[in-house]
Amino acid sequence: MTDIALPLALTLSSGAERMFPMLTPAQIKRIAAHGKLRSIRSGEVLVEAGAHVVPFFVITEGRVEVIRPSGSTETLVAIHEPGQFTGEVNMLSGRPALVRSRASESGEVIELDREQLLALVQTDSELGELIMRAFILRRVELIAHGFGDVVLLGSNHCSGTLRVKEFLRRNGHPYSYIDLDRDADVQALLDRFHISAADVPVLICRGEVVLRNPTNQQIAGCLGFNEAIDQTHIRDVVIVGAGPAGLAAAVYAASEGLDVLVLETSSPGGQAGSSSKIENYLGFPTGISGEALAGRAYTQAQKFGAQVMIAAGAKRLVCDRKPYAIELDDNTRVQALTVIVATGASYRKPPIQNVVLFENAGVYYCATFMEAQLCRNEEVVVVGGGNSAGQAAVFLAQTAKRVHVLVRGSGLAESMSRYLIRRIEQNPAIVLRTNAEIVALEGNDHLERVRWRNNQGNDIETHDLRHVFLMTGAVAGTQWLDGCVALDANGFIKTGPDLSEDDLAAAHWPLTRPPHLLETSLPGVFAVGDVRGGNIKRVASAVGEGSISISFIHQLLHE
Ligand SMILES: Cc1cc2nc3c(=O)[nH]c(=O)nc-3n(C[C@H](O)[C@H](O)[C@H](O)COP(=O)(O)OP(=O)(O)OC[C@H]3O[C@@H](n4cnc5c(N)ncnc54)[C@H](O)[C@@H]3O)c2cc1C
Repeated sequence: MTDIALPLALTLSSGAERMFPMLTPAQIKRIAAHGKLRSIRSGEVLVEAGAHVVPFFVITEGRVEVIRPSGSTETLVAIHEPGQFTGEVNMLSGRPALVRSRASESGEVIELDREQLLALVQTDSELGELIMRAFILRRVELIAHGFGDVVLLGSNHCSGTLRVKEFLRRNGHPYSYIDLDRDADVQALLDRFHISAADVPVLICRGEVVLRNPTNQQIAGCLGFNEAIDQTHIRDVVIVGAGPAGLAAAVYAASEGLDVLVLETSSPGGQAGSSSKIENYLGFPTGISGEALAGRAYTQAQKFGAQVMIAAGAKRLVCDRKPYAIELDDNTRVQALTVIVATGASYRKPPIQNVVLFENAGVYYCATFMEAQLCRNEEVVVVGGGNSAGQAAVFLAQTAKRVHVLVRGSGLAESMSRYLIRRIEQNPAIVLRTNAEIVALEGNDHLERVRWRNNQGNDIETHDLRHVFLMTGAVAGTQWLDGCVALDANGFIKTGPDLSEDDLAAAHWPLTRPPHLLETSLPGVFAVGDVRGGNIKRVASAVGEGSISISFIHQLLHE
């Protein structure tokens, strides 16, 4: 027996006309040219929740209801009338359907398969915009209502729960959450699935599979994130990393007709995805959250036909033969005529659990004019004993009231240039704290207090400080390249004119032409964004380099 549990949650919410637009007769005619007409019977299920093949329907006569099934209960999500269309963003990615679409009144529809829909949104800009906007808004509503095929049971004090939540959120997948610390009735549910406290977090996937403390790969597998992706054929270009650089490369490559596959070890967005507000990216005068920017870029890449494999880390580049092959974490391989390395960098962080909570809200990894303005006339901490820490301390001392430089060792002599040490010593606004290590960061929405320990006396000092600069270096995401390309002294990838004759000779560069801009010491393998030596570590430069690299890929494919 079914039971309609909720009223029209989506159709009544604001912005309904944009989420469920009414097509004009002229627009319907243009869509009809891409698909086929078919009749529907009342009660006929057009798409089942979890179905792998999800066509797109425009209703010309009758009605189609959208339902979220859960056991014997059905939640009505929306009703499509003549002139409206079905679908949401998983139609672009080829992922399984989250909801059931069923004819509630007999009539007629225009049906398009995924390829026909992609062709439509790529070639008809008016309909492309209208359909993409509706799909994105519908997904946002599904997320807001937790209308997904996932129930997560966890505790906010458990790092595994936070990881899974972040993975689902950053992949734009709706889920409902049961907080085990608050929900007393949940024990019965846990008992039903024989789940002990050690299994937390638990993810109930599609109402049937129970995953205990699952890895990101297991979640992606269960939700069918990568199901529509064919790993067997040779791609024009494989892009490794879906941060701003990789996504920009994917948008340009796919929109210019290349067959492109992106591999991402975690979720799209990279470091930028964790930024609460990016204020210096062109075109967003009031700023944009990293997650929103990443979500838009990800959808844009998929709209042009780029395929993005989630939770699929590159483990090794097989570079001794062509086409190149990339071995993934699960030991499968993908082959590519050209490769773009966009694996970014990760900043070394102190082993304090909540450091990420204060990123861009008191914790920074670079000291530019923008950060200096934020802490004008305040006391700040710079952590690190290298030249980047020294430069940051001297720079910040121009505007900050006091700069505490924290180093774990007994001095700076071994790690910092002499000229910077002298400037620090001579600057009364800078206080050097040796043998010191941060042990706690505290605050609510913003950092308010810092505790550090003196490793000699072991006493802990507490300071009301709102700004900490972690200048302990970044590690390039190059481990998987295993000696295939030349690196600089800091482990970042050398490209184009930065490659010396010696580098090229050592790499046995086989061509008469020199490497293209952004090309590594291996022909046809490019490096873009933070992973590249000499790159300015900013979203705009990552996006710029990702986009530029595609013009060289075209040249190479025609060489
Ligand atoms: C908290 C924070 C705030 C920031 N704020 C700003 C800002 O306001 N303005 C600004 O301009 N810049 C900002 N930055 C810097 C900016 O985010 C980076 O410069 C930019 O994200 C670099 O992009 P990228 O694509 O080169 O690398 P990343 O963003 O690092 O992305 C690399 C991607 O590759 C993936 N990856 C790594 N290894 C593998 C592998 N082996 N296989 C598959 N995938 C892999 C990673 O998971 C990641 O998604 C900020 C950075 C941080 C950390």
